[in-house]
Amino acid sequence: MNQFGASPSTKLLDLGGLQALIDALVGRGFEVIGPVVRDGAIVYDTVARVADLPAGWTDQQEAGQYRLQSRRDGALFGFAVGAHSWKRFLHPPVKTLWTMRRGEEGVEITSAAAAPAPKFAFLGVRACEIHAIAIQDRVLLNGPYPDTAYAMRREDAFIIAVNCGQAGGTCFCVSMQTGPKANSGFDLALTELLEGDSHRFLVELGSPAGADLLGGIPSREASDADRAAAAAIVARTSSQMGRSLNTNGIKELLQGNPEHPRWDEVARRCLTCGNCTMVCPTCFCTTVEDHSDLTGTVAERVSKWDSCFTMDFSYLHGGSVRSTGRSRYRQWMTHKLASWFDQFGTSGCVGCGRCITWCPVGIDITQEAAAIRATAGAGKGERHGGS
Ligand code: SF4
Ligand code: SF4
Repeated sequence: MNQFGASPSTKLLDLGGLQALIDALVGRGFEVIGPVVRDGAIVYDTVARVADLPAGWTDQQEAGQYRLQSRRDGALFGFAVGAHSWKRFLHPPVKTLWTMRRGEEGVEITSAAAAPAPKFAFLGVRACEIHAIAIQDRVLLNGPYPDTAYAMRREDAFIIAVNCGQAGGTCFCVSMQTGPKANSGFDLALTELLEGDSHRFLVELGSPAGADLLGGIPSREASDADRAAAAAIVARTSSQMGRSLNTNGIKELLQGNPEHPRWDEVARRCLTCGNCTMVCPTCFCTTVEDHSDLTGTVAERVSKWDSCFTMDFSYLHGGSVRSTGRSRYRQWMTHKLASWFDQFGTSGCVGCGRCITWCPVGIDITQEAAAIRATAGAGKGERHGGS
């Protein structure tokens, strides 16, 4: 028995079965979100038909580079991950918290928490992304200050994982032990099997809800050969990782080298644009803003994604605590790979590679960590105070 288990927990779906799966989700009131091609990239958006998926497209990714390329086959999930992650839907970039209206009978306040939450089914969730959702759950669902809007969206979310059939140029999930195979945290998990004219999906059941949905869809039992083919795909993906990160003692390494000269070197390249935090599927920081309209009758409070790369993020008592790019990059990377363990018991990085691909100057977190490791201890005690 390989990592794909044995019958009856694995089934086979063809393309018609995949469409039936989407239809069944829609029939149960879900908005199905999956990968689509838009504006030269693969992004996540509403999917109604199998034809909406990016058939025959793949992505070429390197530090600071993302390009769509056509594939020779009709694979629907033959790419890695794009700039979007599922946090866009569970923890939206902008969200109204409350609206206040002044009328003849006084002031009326409407809380957004009272509104019904959308019911999402996510199609095509990668293993690293499932780990990222679990990390956000720790912060926004199971932490000391749960986020009501996140909890409502997360509670009803139906997750269909897709095991990766190829690694992206900036992926390093194997180093972070977060992929490329999804092992838990899904309702159903698909592995795309494409051989000649045969296009089918091995389906693993991950929850009673997944079993219930699949029960109403035409499928057949998977054979040992199907499971072996799926295992071979995942093994091949594991061997193709574009990057690796040595996580051995990384918490102590980063926390023990706050004055390493590499922080100065990376600061000379970093634009402090915050792209890395926007695309990171685990970053969760927000700020709040209050707005009123020109008539003075309507006001609202909105929550927006924030970034530790902005000056305002660490503004205290008339100044920014992290006033330099050096201190802001160091804060971001040390939080991701080190102090996240102190706060949440896990790494804050799942190895998806987005921050490397979407950094406009191609700064690579795996290279930065390796550079500090190569000369650990350099600069210790040489600098006092300042940032
Ligand atoms: S590391 Fe890259 S993406 Fe992140 S703030 Fe600096 S320039 Fe922007
Ligand atoms: S730090 Fe970079 S590689 Fe790690 S999870 Fe965030 S975006 Fe992905």
